[in-house]
Amino acid sequence: MYPESYEYHPLYPKPEDFEIIQKDENSGFGVISRKAFKKGELIAAMNGERIDEIRQHSLQIEPGLHLYDIHFSGYFLHSCSPNVHLDMQNMLVSVVRDIKPGDYILMDYAQTEDVLYHQFPCSCGAANCRGWITGRREAIDESDPMYQQFVQSSVAAI
Ligand SMILES: [Zn+2]
Repeated sequence: MYPESYEYHPLYPKPEDFEIIQKDENSGFGVISRKAFKKGELIAAMNGERIDEIRQHSLQIEPGLHLYDIHFSGYFLHSCSPNVHLDMQNMLVSVVRDIKPGDYILMDYAQTEDVLYHQFPCSCGAANCRGWITGRREAIDESDPMYQQFVQSSVAAI
């Protein structure tokens, strides 16, 4: 899935194992697995451009340093009950919940991100869904019109 110009790594994701697809108009793109993976397995190594700003689809390596991978990991969708864990120091993706063929690769954005490009309402459906997703080191942006909508719809649902 990565350009041939990248230095070879045996764990780079292969097109026969993963596919980037458009989930729906609201969520944009996601990555599905074509294979089954067991909890604890290492499923891929990541690579991409190292940048010093937060962009849509970037993943934090450390404060002030982000991976911009538009071939694979940048399209992982968020879940509050993820099926993968990202080791951003070693650029490795491991499985924390069994994955079946056709499942989306799901990460918790707050696992890697101090601050999100955009905070957003989550509809992952997990029992422990946090509802409104922020980075792990930022407060809820209450001035965000989407947050106000989210609060109103949460109140309406009770
Ligand atoms: Zn959620």
